[in-house]
Amino acid sequence: MTAKLSKFDLTGRRALITGSSRGIGFAIAEALAGAGAEIILNGRNTEALGDAASRLAEAGATVKAVAFDVTSAESVAEGIQYCESELGGIDILVNNAGVQIRGPLDSYDLADFELMMSTHVTATFNVSKTAAAGMIGRGRGRIINICSVLTNVSRPTAAPYGAAKAAIGNLTRGMAADWAKHGINANAIAPGYFKTELNTALMADADFNAWVETRTPMGRWGELEELGGAAIFLASDAASFVNGHILYVDGAFTAVV
Ligand code: NDP
Repeated sequence: MTAKLSKFDLTGRRALITGSSRGIGFAIAEALAGAGAEIILNGRNTEALGDAASRLAEAGATVKAVAFDVTSAESVAEGIQYCESELGGIDILVNNAGVQIRGPLDSYDLADFELMMSTHVTATFNVSKTAAAGMIGRGRGRIINICSVLTNVSRPTAAPYGAAKAAIGNLTRGMAADWAKHGINANAIAPGYFKTELNTALMADADFNAWVETRTPMGRWGELEELGGAAIFLASDAASFVNGHILYVDGAFTAVV
């Protein structure tokens, strides 16, 4: 059987991954490119975005970069419009852009809380709604939202982040409920702990490292390329009847108490 007959083949599909200048977004972009998709990278820092696009292009990917801030309605409208009219449209959308601000709830700053909600929840709604217009017109599309192991449980100093990820989890189910009839499958990936810039402070904390390694049954942090298979699957025809699901890629972290 040739690769072209594989249900995992993404040749001819175009994927926009928000927040893909580095970290998990870039790893997902690499994986989708490896399965044949054309890639549209996104982030706010144009220099970082350009560097990421060059790295993917050097690896053989067909890649464009579109800078926009997922928290700005105007910026999202312009960015998605550009993807639709100039780049040929979005077949696969990965809502990945994210930030982390930790702190106990009793001293948590309201503006920080609102930033957590706008970057994760409002942006996932608005980028999806804006991109879904083109998908609905074409009668097909794939949306992959990025949740977390804190989607259904919490831990000290992570409540705003967990609240945002819980909202994304249920937004994912709502997208499936409203848009399945338009040929759109909306699912989520819930990663365990991965070494990215978002976790810089945690990575430097020996106690936290030890906790991740003992708390995770597989005994380690995830490797970024270990998220690729889930992303390819959910973006592909192999997942045609998978809709409204949250796929944990966490080394069994959430399987145990
Ligand atoms: P990084 O900090 O490494 O990357 C974040 C990316 O998001 C960057 O490309 C950043 O680029 C972009 N970004 C941030 N804010 C915005 C914005 N307003 N508009 C557009 N782009 C933005 O983080 P990770 O790769 O770790 O995180 C990616 C996603 O994975 C997040 O949703 C995070 O919550 C989630 N996650 C991470 C886990 C981990 O262990 N690392 C575990 C579970 C979930 P720029 O700053 O240039 O805009």
